Amino acid sequence: MKAAILGAQETASDFISFLNAAPTPFHAVAEAKRRLEAAGFTQLSERDSWALLPGGTYYFTRNFSTIVAFAIGKRFYPGCGFAIVGAHTDSPCPKLKPRSKIVKGGFLELGVQTYGSGLWHTWFDRDLTVAGRVMVRRGNGFSHELVHVKEPILRIPTLAIHLDKTVSEGFKINTQTQLVPVLASCIKDELSKSLPDENGALVAEDANSKAEAHHHSLLLKILSSELGCESDDICDFELQVCDTQPSSIGGALKEFVFSGRLDNLCMSFCSLKALIDSTSEASLENETIVRMVALFDHEEVGSNSAQGAGSPVMLDALKRITISMGEESSQNVEKAIQQSLLVSADMAHCLHPNYMDKHEENHQPKMHKGLVVKYNANQRYATNAVTSFIFKEIARRQDLPTQVIRIFFQGKTVRKANIFLLLWQDFVVRNDMACGSTIGPILASGVGIRTVDVGAPQLSMHSIREMCGVDDVGYSYRHFKLFFEDFSALDQHVNVD
Ligand code: ZN
Repeated sequence: MKAAILGAQETASDFISFLNAAPTPFHAVAEAKRRLEAAGFTQLSERDSWALLPGGTYYFTRNFSTIVAFAIGKRFYPGCGFAIVGAHTDSPCPKLKPRSKIVKGGFLELGVQTYGSGLWHTWFDRDLTVAGRVMVRRGNGFSHELVHVKEPILRIPTLAIHLDKTVSEGFKINTQTQLVPVLASCIKDELSKSLPDENGALVAEDANSKAEAHHHSLLLKILSSELGCESDDICDFELQVCDTQPSSIGGALKEFVFSGRLDNLCMSFCSLKALIDSTSEASLENETIVRMVALFDHEEVGSNSAQGAGSPVMLDALKRITISMGEESSQNVEKAIQQSLLVSADMAHCLHPNYMDKHEENHQPKMHKGLVVKYNANQRYATNAVTSFIFKEIARRQDLPTQVIRIFFQGKTVRKANIFLLLWQDFVVRNDMACGSTIGPILASGVGIRTVDVGAPQLSMHSIREMCGVDDVGYSYRHFKLFFEDFSALDQHVNVD
C-alpha cells in the first residue's frame, strides 16, 4: 500500500536512482551532467570564452565536484536578473588519508580522516565500500576517472558489550583510533599474494611502487581491476568510505525515502530536475531572466575552497553570462544582481517524535507539508520578509485547485482525498540552542544577492542513513519549478526600492 501526492512517487523513484548513482560529490556532478546532456544542455569550459545565445541551455563544472547549469530566457539582455537555486553535493563521510595503510592486530585497516560533522557512531557495523576519483596514467597522459566499488569490502566493527559494559552508554568514539575500517585479515592477504595466476606462476608483489608504500596493495588491486588499469598506473586518488546499502522507499505506506546523503542530494536533485523541466522552448519564449542551478562542493566544511560557495564561482558565472550576452557595461552585473533571487536549498530538521523538546514550540516542521522556510535573526540563514514573501507567494498563487491525493492498494486507487497543491512551513531554532547554517549567508554576503533559505524536512541528518518524505520530494521539485517559471513576472510587482 502506498499514499502519495500525484507525481510524487515517480519523482521519488527518479530521486532514488539519482542517489544510487551518486555516492560522492564527483559522482553527483557526473550524474547531473548526464541528465543535463540528455536534456540538450551544452557544456562550457571556464578556460574558454563563452558565446551564449538567448534561449540557450548550458552548464559548466569546477573540480568535477561543483556544477552550475542555466537556461537563458529568449528576452534576456545584459542587466536582467537571475532566478537561482543553490544546493550542495557533499555530505559528511570518512575520507582515506594520503597514507591509508594500517596493519594492526592481524588485520589490514584503512586510515581515514573525518569530513564534516558526521554522526560517526552510525558508520559502525555497516557494510561499507569506497568511491571517489582516481588520477590514472593512460599512455602518455593522465586522466581523472571515477570509481565506485559496489561490494562491501570494508567494515568498522563495534566492541562487544561483554568487553566493556559501559560501551553503549553514550557510545563515545575516538575517531582516530576507533573509526578505522577493516579491509582484510593479514593471513588471507598473505595467502592471496602467493596464489598462482591463471598461467600457474606465483604473483609477484611490487613493493617498490610508490602507491603501495602508502596504501595496501590489496586496495590498489581492487581499484585497478575496477578501472581496468595496472596498480602502478594509479597516480593519486581522493576516496571516501560509503555505504553499500542502496537507497530505498519505505514505511508501511511507502511514504519515506531511506538513504544516505539526503542532505543535500535531495535539494540538488529537486532543483536540477526543476531546471531541466522548466526549460522548454515555450517556457523560455517570454522569459527575461536566466534560470540557474548551482550545486557546490564543500558546504559541510565551511565552503572555503576553489569550488565551494565561498569561492567566486557564482559571481564569475553571473558576470560571464551578463557580459557575454551583449556589450559590456560596468553597471550591468550590479543591475542584474539586484534583480535576482537566490533560493538557498538545504535540508531542514523535521520535528522528531522522540525528541520533541528540541524544537521551538511554534516552529515544528513536519513531513509531507512542503519546503521549510528557515529564519535566523543572527543571519545564520539569509531569509528576510521580502525573500520569504516571494518564495511563499509563488506557492500561494498555485493553491487552487486543490490536489487529489490517492491511496493505492495492490496497484488500485482505494481512496482519494483533497489537499492543497503546494504547502510550506517555517523554522527557527530555539534561543537556547546553536543554529546550523547554509550557503545562503555566504552567497548573500559575497554576492550581495537577495536570498531565502529553504529545505525539505528530514530526520537523522548527517547519519549514514537518513530519512525524508516522498511527498516533500514532489513538493520541493514543483516549488522550484514554479520559482523558475514565475519569479520574473512576480518580481515586477514587488517594490524593493
Ligand atoms: Zn546540508
